[in-house]
Amino acid sequence: MPNFDAGMRSRSLGRTFLIAAFAMMLGYYLSSAGRGWFSSGPVVRNFETMNTYGRITLPEGSGVTIDPELAVAEAEAAVARVNTLMSPFGDASDIKRLNETPAGTWIAVDPLTWRVVMESLRWHRLSGGAFDPTVGPVKALFTFDGRETDDFPSDDALADARSRVGADKLRFEREGMRLSWAADGMRLDLGAIAKGFAADLAMESLIRNGARHALVDIGGELRAVGGKPGDAREPWRAGIRHPRDDDVIERFELVDGAVATSGDYERFFVHDGVRYEHIIDPRTGLPMTEGPASVTVIHPTSCLAADALATTMCVLGERGGEAFLRDQALGLLSSGVRVVMLLAEEGGVRRVEMLVDAEGGVTVESAAASLR
Ligand code: AMP
Ligand code: MG
Repeated sequence: MPNFDAGMRSRSLGRTFLIAAFAMMLGYYLSSAGRGWFSSGPVVRNFETMNTYGRITLPEGSGVTIDPELAVAEAEAAVARVNTLMSPFGDASDIKRLNETPAGTWIAVDPLTWRVVMESLRWHRLSGGAFDPTVGPVKALFTFDGRETDDFPSDDALADARSRVGADKLRFEREGMRLSWAADGMRLDLGAIAKGFAADLAMESLIRNGARHALVDIGGELRAVGGKPGDAREPWRAGIRHPRDDDVIERFELVDGAVATSGDYERFFVHDGVRYEHIIDPRTGLPMTEGPASVTVIHPTSCLAADALATTMCVLGERGGEAFLRDQALGLLSSGVRVVMLLAEEGGVRRVEMLVDAEGGVTVESAAASLR
C-alpha cells in the first residue's frame, strides 16, 4: 500500500507538473501572440542617425504580428542601412566610394542606393535642374553654422566648384547598377532625399510586420500609417515651426501620409547682412538667399517624394514652385499633395498653400501667417 500511495503521489505530482508546464507554455504563447493580435504596450525608440535624430513609434494596438520591440528594431536597422550606404562618410558608403572614384571608372552600388540615385536624377530632370544632387562642391565652400561671418569664397574658388556641379555628368548603367562620373572632382550628395527614403523604408518594414498604426520620424521627415490608436483612434499630429522663432505656427493631423520640411532656419550663415541657406541654387551656383523661409510638403504616400519636393520648392520659390506644380501635377505628383510655404517678408511671415487636386489642378491661397 505504501508503494501504491507513493506511486499515486508520484503520478499525481507528475500530472501536476505537466499541467503546470502546459499552463506556462499556453501563457507564453498567448502573451507573445497577444502582442500582435490583440493589444500591446506602445514602443517608442529614439536613436541618432543621418546627422539628426530618429524616432519610431508603434502605438498600443499597432497590429504588428511579431514582438513590437523586434518590429521597431528591424525598422531602425532599415534606417541604419540607408545611412551606411548613402552617407558621405564611412567605408561602407556607396556615395563615399563614388565620390573618391576618378572620372570614367564604374562602380557597382547597392540596389537601395541605386533606387535613391535614380529618383534623384528623375527629380533633377523634371525640376529643370532645380533639384541637383551634385551641388556638393559648392556646398563644401561654406560653413552653415548659423553664425555671422566675414568669410566668403573667392570668385575663382566659386567658379571652380561650379564647374564640378551638374547631375548630367553622372553616368549610369542599369545592368549591374553601376555609376560613373564624366568629370573629375564631382560629388554626389543625397542629403535632400535620403532621409525621406529612410522613413519610407522603415515604414515598409513595419508594414511587412503587420503594422497598421505607426509613425517614423527622421529629423522631422515623417511617414505615418493609420492613426495613433487609443479609444478614439486619434490621428497623428504634426506641426510647422515658425521660421524665425521656436513656436509651432501651425498644427495638422496626419493619417496615412508623409511630411517633409526644408528651410533656411536650421543650417545657414549670415554674411554682409544676408542670410545664406544650405540649399544651393544650381542656377546661380550660390546658396539660396531669398527663398522661402520654409517649405513643408504633405504627401499622401511617399516621404521620399515629400523630401525631394520640399527642397525643389525651396529652390523654385513661390512663382516657380507654383508653375512646377502645375506642370507636374498629372505626372510626377499625386493628387492631395499639399505645400505650405512660409515667406519671411518685411511685414512679417506670409503663408502660401498650394494643393494639387485629382484633376491635376493646383489651388493657391496666400495670407499673412497666423497661428492655426
Ligand atoms: P533638405 O533639407 O531636404 O532640403 O536637403 C538639403 C540638403 O540637400 C543640403 O544640405 C545639401 O546637402 C543638399 N542640397 C542643397 N541644395 C540642393 C539642391 N538644389 N538639390 C538637391 N540637393 C541639394
Ligand atoms: Mg529634402
